[in-house]
Amino acid sequence: MNETISLLHSFQKKLEITPLKLSYLNNESVSIDLLRLDLMHPTLSGNKWFKLQYQLQQAIQQGKDTLLSFGGAYSNHLHAMAFTGKQTGFKTIGIIRGEQVQNATLQDCVNWGMELKFMPRSAYKFKHEIALLHEIQEANPQCFIIPEGGSNEEGVKGCEEILSYIKGEYSHVVCAVGTGTTMAGLIRSTTADTQVIGVSALKNALDLDENISQYTSKQNWSIIHDYHFGGFGKAPKSIIAFMKDFKQETGIELDRVYTSKMMFGLLDLIKSEKLQSPKKILAIHSGGLQGNRSLLV
Ligand SMILES: *Cc1c(COP(=O)(O)O)cnc(C)c1O
Repeated sequence: MNETISLLHSFQKKLEITPLKLSYLNNESVSIDLLRLDLMHPTLSGNKWFKLQYQLQQAIQQGKDTLLSFGGAYSNHLHAMAFTGKQTGFKTIGIIRGEQVQNATLQDCVNWGMELKFMPRSAYKFKHEIALLHEIQEANPQCFIIPEGGSNEEGVKGCEEILSYIKGEYSHVVCAVGTGTTMAGLIRSTTADTQVIGVSALKNALDLDENISQYTSKQNWSIIHDYHFGGFGKAPKSIIAFMKDFKQETGIELDRVYTSKMMFGLLDLIKSEKLQSPKKILAIHSGGLQGNRSLLV
């Protein structure tokens, strides 16, 4: 088991950076480097392995044999957890938000041995409540419960490592935000000279600031709430068109839920001069491309 973990760990050392040359960014004093977590591994997507690694370590320490977590039907988190489970010999259980459905993401999860349980949205709202977790734990005593999106101290700690493979000073680090776990790790691992900007993929997620503040008392960060394009998972024509343009111009595919909105937001913030003295920007491509298969159905 430890060998598999060090194998999984070794992916991280191969992080690539792509400097972006964009015609719609005609401002020569600003550069954007894209950190390609999407290239880290053909299956394990982007930030999700970083969030999982210490959860896995804890599960091993506690002698558990099953990983259980929560997510939507296209969840990158559950997809990564199912694959990790298969690689490391853990059984996996995925609690899926909403009615029973079938899609390519869930099919992968099942192929990797994950047991799926669908939970109506009315109950899913309370998924992290003690009583329900207790019930799940009692029914599956060997089960290690990971919160939705890998959002806890272990998740943040894993994400602190994202920038440890990067050389160079950046004026800004920009990432997409779901739970804020990745962003909290980035904040912890930057100095006060670097501003960490998070672009929220959720509409009106005003508790995000509070969530991040539990993990860090640093002040060099802010969340932008203006680029959710209608809400989490919503992909109106305008964002799909942007994804296509970006791919045509750079050859890089963005995902429809997070990184497309992050990149659109970043370019718009630069154009409208809303970033404070931007110079050298590191944008995080946090992966998630498996979810783009939802665009084909
Ligand atoms: C999960 C995910 C995020 C959000 O990460 P959080 O740590 O939950 O904020 C960003 N980008 C992609 C591609 C993701 O899959």
